[in-house]
Amino acid sequence: MSVLKSFIAGEWLGETPARPLPSAINGDIVAHTHQEPIDFAKAVEYGRTTGVKNLLAMDFQERALALKAMALYLQEHKQELYALSHHTGATKRDSAIDIDGGFGTLFSYASMGRRELPSGNVVHEGPVMPLGKENHFAGTHILVPRGGVAVHINAFNFPVWGMLEKFAPTFLAGMPCIVKPATATSYVTEAAVRLMQASGALPEGALQLIIGGTGDLLDHLREQDVVTFTGSASTALKLRSHPNILARSIPFNAEADSLNCAILAPDVTPDHEEFDLFIKEVVREMTVKAGQKCTAVRRILVPTAQLEAVADRLKQQLSKVVAGDPAVDGVRMGALASLDQCADVKAAIDRLKESCECLLGGTGDFQPLGDGCDRGAFLEPHLLLCRNPEQEGGAHDIEAFGPVATLMPYDTLEQAVAIAAKGKGSLVTTLSTRDPAIAGQLVPMLAAYHGRLHVLDAQAAKESTGHGSPLPMLKHGGPGRAGGGEELGGIRAVCHYLQRTAVQGSPTMLAAITGEYVRGAKVIETEVHPFRRYFEDLQINESLLTHRRTVTEADIVNFGCLSGDHFYMHFDEIAARNSQFRERIAHGYFVLSAAAGLFVSPGEGPVLANYGLDNLRFITPVPIGDTIQARLTCKRKIDQGRTSPDGHPQGVVVWDVEVRNQKDELVASYDILTLVAKRPQ
Ligand code: NDP
Repeated sequence: MSVLKSFIAGEWLGETPARPLPSAINGDIVAHTHQEPIDFAKAVEYGRTTGVKNLLAMDFQERALALKAMALYLQEHKQELYALSHHTGATKRDSAIDIDGGFGTLFSYASMGRRELPSGNVVHEGPVMPLGKENHFAGTHILVPRGGVAVHINAFNFPVWGMLEKFAPTFLAGMPCIVKPATATSYVTEAAVRLMQASGALPEGALQLIIGGTGDLLDHLREQDVVTFTGSASTALKLRSHPNILARSIPFNAEADSLNCAILAPDVTPDHEEFDLFIKEVVREMTVKAGQKCTAVRRILVPTAQLEAVADRLKQQLSKVVAGDPAVDGVRMGALASLDQCADVKAAIDRLKESCECLLGGTGDFQPLGDGCDRGAFLEPHLLLCRNPEQEGGAHDIEAFGPVATLMPYDTLEQAVAIAAKGKGSLVTTLSTRDPAIAGQLVPMLAAYHGRLHVLDAQAAKESTGHGSPLPMLKHGGPGRAGGGEELGGIRAVCHYLQRTAVQGSPTMLAAITGEYVRGAKVIETEVHPFRRYFEDLQINESLLTHRRTVTEADIVNFGCLSGDHFYMHFDEIAARNSQFRERIAHGYFVLSAAAGLFVSPGEGPVLANYGLDNLRFITPVPIGDTIQARLTCKRKIDQGRTSPDGHPQGVVVWDVEVRNQKDELVASYDILTLVAKRPQ
């Protein structure tokens, strides 16, 4: 008999069976939870000591590499997870969203981490702001690991993705996780955690797993810890108002069920492609994962004139959906996650029927396809109609977490916005329109109540990832009823697990703290040109003040002829005199090129490539006769552990460049990005 184990303080715990976990397909028992109690105080302490120590022995870049290694390992072993996922009622496509979607999120965070996070464990969130007139005192922000543990309490519908989308940014941030999956589908999460352990990429203490309840876990949390939650609004409320969470101001991020919308704009009629796209999107959202997605469409808002056409088309499409055992050919929709969940959804439909008509479903002649499926948690799609959606409650309040949605007619755009807002905050809304003016008017009006807005037209449909897919680079979450939290959204999610602190001091101190050169800080000048140093030998603040160069008319003429840029400001004496500068000035790009000529060390050396500029500004014009000089300073070093195409290890160096004139006025300012070789082995 298979007993799931918790993974606590570095050990797998659990021998004695407790609660049986039945398959959603046929009711057979897939696994049991364990009876052995968990010492939550020990789990938290272990995370805070062993976990934090091992995670912070690595830096952002190393953790990003570890995430990638883990994702590659998981991908190689995904069939083990697919086999278990089937029992949750998932079709192959549903499992792919959960399993491959989860791995995709790991890959995505690994690559964002490599690209956007520094070496070390301090994120500098610039820009530095001068706080005094003479740049002796400045301020900036840093983000650092919190030194606590993150407790992630997840929902039953995405046992793999739900864990990984929270784990990835937490791990990058250097925070150990204690993961508590929903019990009903925890057998898939347990298998995923075993694979993560087996990958060898997970430092000891970085991940613990709870099978079953959380006991007194929240009582042991402290100020440096965080809690995230996905599930029902009622559990979110219960947990966020836990006395210890409140007393210690422990950050609590919730993502709860919400009454998401799909809105058909009045410019779309059944002759348009957007009408078909709208129907397809709604049907997909109602049936993928049997409608058990926090982002699924629950309310379908259509112009009164199109109500009948939309209702007919949805009924036609939904009645073609074959539900049953996903292993059987032709089955397009699987089961709900458990019999309890099925009973909950049926009860919610009954409550919806008090204010809505039922257009499809519930006739009693539904038969899921497949052996033993009469014992499974199956439910056919239900389409309801609320004729009076301006009334509060009903379909604006009741979330039937299954293949269920309610049609609502509206007459004006303002009415559509008001009806959508009656859901009191949602994760996502799709707007189907052909008219950019409607999108331009409606989206800002809708945005206050919705975490994400997906505008669907024929062009977007060619590549759209769909209404229901949270993407790692975009924020997931929503206001009000949707939990009021934020997840994903690129590096933003990593920042949720870091402490942001304002730092004030002299530029020299700020440079030492942030690990980045700050203008006005003491520079290091030696006989050696900074371009002649290998990556490891270069120091932050290492600087070169170049010789000077007087700009002549010949420079301007030559540069204009070479580049073909004969703009009047450089070539037309009269027009230039009439301009705000009152005289001819050098091309900005000439100044850039001349500065490069001043600061490069031309011989072969460790600087391998210049791959771009950031933050370029031309500040003071350079007329004929002005004399310019450049200062090049090593600003930031990032070791991404990369090698050049021919196998030489290299790192990224960002150089601060200031170009000044004879009056010491700043002429041009920018960062140069280069690849610099590491010392030969
Ligand atoms: P719950 O809110 O009951 O459970 C969500 C998670 O919280 C589970 O891991 C659950 O564990 C845990 N939990 C529940 N009570 C406590 C507690 N007192 N202390 C600590 N942890 C707790 O949601 P359900 O999974 O039961 O689903 C109910 C409804 O929630 C659905 O019908 C749907 O409306 C909504 N939902 C929303 C989701 C979303 O993504 N926003 C996803 C899934 C559901 P355990 O399983 O052990 O009880």
